[in-house]
Amino acid sequence: MGDDCSVPGFRVHITGSSIVGAGYGLAAWYVGDMHPMTCALGAGLCSVAGMMPDLDSGPGIPLRESVAFAAAVVPMMMIHRFQQTGLPLEAIIVAGAAIYLAIRFGMSWLLKNYAVHRGMFHSLPAAAIAGQVTFLAFASEEPLRRYFVSSAVVLGFLTHLVLDEIWSVKLGMFGPKFKKSFGTALKFHGPVLWPNLLTYALALALGALAAGDAAWTEKLATARQQMEQAARPYQQWQQPQWQYRR
Ligand SMILES: [Zn+2]
Repeated sequence: MGDDCSVPGFRVHITGSSIVGAGYGLAAWYVGDMHPMTCALGAGLCSVAGMMPDLDSGPGIPLRESVAFAAAVVPMMMIHRFQQTGLPLEAIIVAGAAIYLAIRFGMSWLLKNYAVHRGMFHSLPAAAIAGQVTFLAFASEEPLRRYFVSSAVVLGFLTHLVLDEIWSVKLGMFGPKFKKSFGTALKFHGPVLWPNLLTYALALALGALAAGDAAWTEKLATARQQMEQAARPYQQWQQPQWQYRR
């Protein structure tokens, strides 16, 4: 936690990932010609994702704030997904509330009871999982927007891991000194077998789901485009173009 000077605290992490997120959003806006709202969403998610790996550090600000934030934002990100499946408004509200409760209480219970600090939450496959979950929740029909938003989460997550590693190196008189925590954040696997297996199984399963979903969503978008194109001459004939007066 933040009291320990050998570990970057909550404030360092949120500052670091906010700076990286702002740079990412600005770059996409200036260079990539991305819509400003998409850039703002990416920047915000990157900033929040910088807290995510410390969800494993037990009760405290990162756990409380990130879980509450995820519980509120994940159902909102999934609105489009629900609409795609053709659910009525009432069902969307009930589903959103259920997801809120599952994250708010289910996830905090799991994290408090099973997460080990600097376990597999601090690892590269965990960063991939965070990105895949975002990809699945944010079902935009434009692939570029979808990849941009889910990459923002991966970027924030990685910023956290990199900061953890930087803090574990101390410059002494005789060159850098490596603390015990060195190498426990940016890693592919941990020392215990079953969390490794669980993490990789989850990453693979989510990867397969995301790949299938990407293909499905793009097919849906193409079908919609074709339908709109077919309907265009009819629409033009039926209603005049709207004129906006300034
Ligand atoms: Zn950490």
